[in-house]
Amino acid sequence: MNDKAMINAFTRSDFERLPATERALIARRERVLGPAYRLFYERPVEFVRGDGVWLHDRDGNAYLDAYNNVASVGHANPRVAAAMTEQATRLNTHTRYLNEALIDYAERLTGLFPSALSQVMFTCTGSEANDLALRIARARTGGTGVIVTSLAYHGVTTAVAEFSPSLGRNVPLGTHVRTVRPPLSGDASAGARFAADVEAAIADMLRHGIRPAMLLVDTIFSSDGVIADPPGFLIPAAAAIRAAGGLFVADEVQPGFGRTGDAMWGFVRHGVVPDMATLGKPMGNGYPIAAVVGRPDVFAEFGREVRYFNTFGGTPVAIAAANAVLDEIDDRKLMDNARDTGAYLRDGIDGLGHAAIGEVRGAGLFIGVELIDANGRPDAVLTTRVVNAMRDRRVLLSASGPDANVLKIRPPLVFDRANADLLIATLQDVLP
Ligand code: PMP
Repeated sequence: MNDKAMINAFTRSDFERLPATERALIARRERVLGPAYRLFYERPVEFVRGDGVWLHDRDGNAYLDAYNNVASVGHANPRVAAAMTEQATRLNTHTRYLNEALIDYAERLTGLFPSALSQVMFTCTGSEANDLALRIARARTGGTGVIVTSLAYHGVTTAVAEFSPSLGRNVPLGTHVRTVRPPLSGDASAGARFAADVEAAIADMLRHGIRPAMLLVDTIFSSDGVIADPPGFLIPAAAAIRAAGGLFVADEVQPGFGRTGDAMWGFVRHGVVPDMATLGKPMGNGYPIAAVVGRPDVFAEFGREVRYFNTFGGTPVAIAAANAVLDEIDDRKLMDNARDTGAYLRDGIDGLGHAAIGEVRGAGLFIGVELIDANGRPDAVLTTRVVNAMRDRRVLLSASGPDANVLKIRPPLVFDRANADLLIATLQDVLP
């Protein structure tokens, strides 16, 4: 995602070492998709089938997926597939017709939020949700300024790429955008420092004649290196942006839908209620559906000014998928599993007591593992080596953080203890 986090991506020199059939497919891919796409791993992998936490390649090898948070209720989930199939073979229209299932789902979804957040608007992607949140925030506040963390990723549209610094220097930030350091993991004064940075960013905006519209944070700080503790560190910053007339918006695309274990949404951990929350990725277990959830008074001005229609946002098939995802989370107690298996996995990695392992952090099944050198400094080279060695042993994960030294572990929520044991044993095997 960010330039540094792509350290585990495949490069030209890797290409020369690949078998002829893989080289041929990669060459065809580059010819037809052009140069903007990137592949994971020094040795790219092609999957032909998924099943729960497993992905299978052409030769029938099974890979343990500890990375893909989209298929959160499991790859090729039968209940989600059946719900989509049933709906797709009956009717698939859009939100300009009355549709009770859409209303039922909207009520069910908003019912999972603090009561103030009682309205929802549907999009197809997380990028669109953040783009829409920006438009709503601008209409509501009259401001234009946006504050994000230093390595945040929020999406692909022109407006959203302008506040996605993890895309690197080649995608310049907007002149209305300010970045702040993410909270310092585990630091008791993390909240105060984060708020002070937000206040400084607001002051700088105002000096340049820009009024703030929103502070937008990924509440698990995925691309900033996975930061979850201490709980509560978002409270002072949310107060600071509101005091300046802006909104506090939680990007729940990564932590949302139970991943952090203790709650459905990452912001709950920090005891704040955002003005809006944006959702995506796991919402339809791979079928594109995303959303902005917010307070009626926050949506009101935008709704007066703008006629909103998103052709594929909230279609009956999308809603069927999303509803089946919530059924799976409920019936299989996947939020509890995220909490329990997540703690088991974190403890197990920590318990390896390996000198190269620094802080092991996160919440639920969103785990960051710092890798360090003999002097305790971030070790990006080792991290790349570990990510690729794990892939060679058929366990999939990735890396993130400003120093590209944090293993990012974010499996489907159906991950169990046996899966965790396999990950831990494989990690122990590949560490020096
Ligand atoms: N916000 C965050 C925190 C994300 O991680 C992503 C995707 N990686 C997005 C927004 C954008 O979502 P999408 O790719 O569905 O547009």
